Amino acid sequence: MTENLLGNEWYSERYFHKNVATSFKIKSVLHSEQSKYQKIDVLDTLGVGKLLLLDGKTMVSEIDEFVYHEVMGNIPAMVHPKIRNVLIIGGGDGGIVREFVKHPEIERIDLVEIDERVIEVSKIYFPNCTSGLSDPRVNVKPQDGVEYIKSFKNFFDVIIIDSTDPEDFAAGLFTQEFYKHVSDALTDNGIMMAQTENPFYDEYGIKSFYDNLRAVYPVVKSFTGPMLIYPGVFWTFAYASKGLLPTQLNESKIPFMSELQKTLKWYNMDWHRGAFNISNIHKKVTGC
Ligand code: SAM
Repeated sequence: MTENLLGNEWYSERYFHKNVATSFKIKSVLHSEQSKYQKIDVLDTLGVGKLLLLDGKTMVSEIDEFVYHEVMGNIPAMVHPKIRNVLIIGGGDGGIVREFVKHPEIERIDLVEIDERVIEVSKIYFPNCTSGLSDPRVNVKPQDGVEYIKSFKNFFDVIIIDSTDPEDFAAGLFTQEFYKHVSDALTDNGIMMAQTENPFYDEYGIKSFYDNLRAVYPVVKSFTGPMLIYPGVFWTFAYASKGLLPTQLNESKIPFMSELQKTLKWYNMDWHRGAFNISNIHKKVTGC
């Protein structure tokens, strides 16, 4: 759990049993509401630009959102031989959709976000993130991903779990049962990815997420990318598949990505090829 303090000049997110905090100097509070699911705040900060908070936890900022969204969209796009159907669970800020719509082979993108107020607020304050939502291939579904996934068998080529921390209505997105439903909904070449917290401040038992994934998928790997606004910055992501290895870039897509990566701020194929060589603590905490 975290305790979050909104002072006159600073916003502090406390985490890791409230023993550590990250603070952001506030220019102004741009938006604040209580949706059916969570508190939604948007702060304008001096250090990281606009900052989206959900129940007081940092979610998206202008300064670093590209790291998370580019890796979640472009790693599977470069590994899978031909993506047709994509499912994103969570991701109401639209950032991952923005990355997938850059790939012309994709025919359908379902964005299943339980709280449509997150989408509407993001459209106002994070238009750079939501720019892909108007693409005709995108279907926005204000539904619970835990339930939505059960309606599909052998359909999606890529499934991304872009959720809040494993608490409340997001807890069901980290279970072995859910990962089995994801596997059932994926095609034989299917790839799933998920955010898996920070190994240094392991409040949720990260290894259990990966044990749940290994009980379902033959290939389970992990990588890291820096998220300045998240607890401890060192953020991990899981890659799981029914066979496709994450460093097997699809040769036929290299010419396309050679051009696309010039427009990206984090992802490039050299980084991708090395991203799954992880440190000892990362291996220990995830079991990868
Ligand atoms: N994409 C951002 C980032 O860079 O990390 C933050 C994650 S996104 C805002 C997290 C979303 O997951 C929230 O909008 C939340 O409403 C959504 N969510 C949580 N549990 C969900 C569920 N069971 N089904 C669908 N969406 C869920």
